[in-house]
Amino acid sequence: MSVAPRILVVEDNPMNLELVRDILTAEGYEVLEAADGATGVAIATLERPALILMDLQLPRLDGLEAARLIRADPRLAGIPIVAVTAHAMKGDDEKARAAGCDGFVTKPIQVREFAATVAAFLKGTKSGSGPA
Ligand code: MN
Repeated sequence: MSVAPRILVVEDNPMNLELVRDILTAEGYEVLEAADGATGVAIATLERPALILMDLQLPRLDGLEAARLIRADPRLAGIPIVAVTAHAMKGDDEKARAAGCDGFVTKPIQVREFAATVAAFLKGTKSGSGPA
């Protein structure tokens, strides 16, 4: 039986999703996927993954709003949310944190850095609030 941490990837871009999936599976994680914000919230609620990687630009419900909904659910407390965005706009980092995200990664994704960031959040060493 696998004890691999389960990571939810909320990403609407198939190429980005494939890249992230490849990185995470190569690291031995189990990957859950959602292609829009509403589905991301639903899967987070049902599956309670160890970590959520949240694209900010998403259909149906954007990543910030999805993060707010997840943070508003006490059953999901302690699950770190890392925002992932192609738009490295000044202020996105603060918006993500204000929405309840614990960290922020910008695209294009750097494989080693991304894997290290994921590992750090799973260990709870990267976040101010950290996993419960
Ligand atoms: Mn997107």
